[in-house]
Order: sequence, then C-alpha cells, then structure tokens
Amino acid sequence: MMQIFIPLNFLGFVYREMKGSLANIEKMFSLLRVAPGIEDTSDAAELQVKEGRIAFEDVHFAYRADREILKGVSFTVAPQQKVAIVGASGAGKSTLFKLLFRFYDPTAGRITIDGQDIRTVSQSSLRAAIGVVPQDAVLFNQSILENVRYGRIDARDDEVMAAIRHAQLEDFVRELPEGVHTMVGERGLKLSGGEKQRVAIARALLKHPPIMVFDEATSSLDSRSEQGILGALRQVASEQTTLVIAHRLSTVVDADVILVLDRGRVVERGSHSQLLAEDGHYAGLWQLQQEERRSAADTNQAGR
Ligand code: ADP
Ligand code: MG
Repeated sequence: MMQIFIPLNFLGFVYREMKGSLANIEKMFSLLRVAPGIEDTSDAAELQVKEGRIAFEDVHFAYRADREILKGVSFTVAPQQKVAIVGASGAGKSTLFKLLFRFYDPTAGRITIDGQDIRTVSQSSLRAAIGVVPQDAVLFNQSILENVRYGRIDARDDEVMAAIRHAQLEDFVRELPEGVHTMVGERGLKLSGGEKQRVAIARALLKHPPIMVFDEATSSLDSRSEQGILGALRQVASEQTTLVIAHRLSTVVDADVILVLDRGRVVERGSHSQLLAEDGHYAGLWQLQQEERRSAADTNQAGR
C-alpha cells in the first residue's frame, strides 16, 4: 500500500512544485540578468530525488576564461545533513549555489543529486527540488500574502499564513495598515533587508522542497531576529538536505560539516569544534568575529 501511495503522492508534489517554481525562476533569471545559455538536453530526464544527497566532484568554474573562480571543489552533503560553507567575501560561495541551481555549468567536474548529473535532468525538475533563500530577495508589486505564495502558487491561504508565522513575519504584518493584504514592492511598502529575507524564508518554507539552500540568509538581520529565524529554520529544515552559505559564523555552529572556502578551494572541513581545535583558517575567522561581537556589545553599552 505504502509503496504505491508514496510515489504517486510524490509525483503530485513534484508537479505542483514545478508550476510553483517556474514563474519565480523566470523572474529570477531576468532580475539576475543571467544569460540563459543553459539548455535541457533533448533526452533530459526528470530529477528523481530519493534521499537528497548532493555531491560536488572536482568542480572547476570560471565566469571568464582568464580567471578561474572555483579550482577543484569536492564535497558531499548527505541526506538530511546541514552543511555550511564559510569564507571571505569573493571566495566563491554564491557561485557554488549558482552552479547547483544550474545558472551555469562547471568548466570541469560534475555536480550530482542522488547520483544524477544535474546536466542530464530537466532544469524545471532540478529547480523544483531546491528551495532558495537568496541574499537579495525580490518582491513583486503585490500583497505580502501573494508575495509569499510565490513559494507555491497553488497553496491555500492557511498554508501561506502558516509559512508567514514560521518565518516570524506575523508581528511585522500585524502592524501594517491592511495586514497581509498590504501591497509591497517598488510601488508599495518598502521592506527592510531583514523583512525581505523573512519573506524569502516564508516562500521557501511554503515550497518545502527536499533540498534547501540559504545564501547568507540572515545577513541583514539583527542578532535577536537572527536567532529567532534560525530556530524556526532548524525546525522546518530538519528533514531536508540543507546547504547554508554564511558569512556570520554564529549561524553555522550547529552544522554537521563546515567547509571553509578560500579563493575557490576548500581549505578546511569539519564540525565547529573540530575546526576550532585545528586552529587554522576557521579558528582565525571565529576569533575575529567574537572580537567584533564584543566590541559591538561594548558600543551598545556605552550608548545607554
Ligand atoms: P562569495 O559569495 O564567496 O562572496 P561569489 O561566488 O559571489 O563570492 O564570487 C566569487 C568571485 O566571482 C568574485 O571575485 C566575484 O567578483 C566573481 N563573480 C561573481 N559573479 C560574477 C559574474 N556574474 N561575472 C563575473 N565574475 C563574477
Ligand atoms: Mg555571496
């Protein structure tokens, strides 16, 4: 009974996800101005996500031939694991995510999901399987409710409301003149960076894909909202394979594996405590950020 039921149910899920993600992605392509030079092969299959295992195998990449950005990156994200990628600005973190999403193809090496090279599957099925909270979320000139519904366009209102609650947007929405029906975007209410990210988080929660990617998802939040959102994400993303790209190390201490990317290479990998014990690159970054925190706290104290 279960064996028949699950695949059918899952196909329905994939189909709904596809419809939901297409509008979103088209918009994203035009907004990111990514050359859509990527085409499905004529025999492209649908991606079959069984476990959600991601593998980067010796991946090289260059935006321009004279400057290699990724110089042989290999790592695996096991099903339901949370893997964090940290490193200085410009190290290539966001580029990894663009390759996973297949905005570009690697110049060498390959990326697989559950053993399927992502170049061999349809882009729609690939993107349906991945939820993204980007650095800069895009809002449309519509209500908050409709903006969140972009995560899954056939979601019911109560499902959208639940996502808004989990993303901790509820208090913010309550203060608005027309609540969730308040218009936002260029011609409506302007949201702060943190509020936009919460909308993006709500979209991802609504989509509930087997793979989640956060690109510095909490970078524009203050520490208190950050901790709140991280708590919500931990709950909701616990059954999903999660890739977190982060600048702020406090957001990744609980990751199963942390990869340290430096100028296109993985230079360290391990858990937070292992990396601290290694006393290398990561330990240095951690020290630096602890000091920044302390001096920020001192400044706040002095201001009172
Ligand atoms: P990170 O996310 O770690 O800060 P990115 O992956 O965004 O780093 O960028 C890595 C490098 O690739 C940077 O030097 C950046 O300037 C360059 N880069 C990023 N996007 C493009 C692009 N579309 N065209 C050319 N170079 C790019
Ligand atoms: Mg980045």
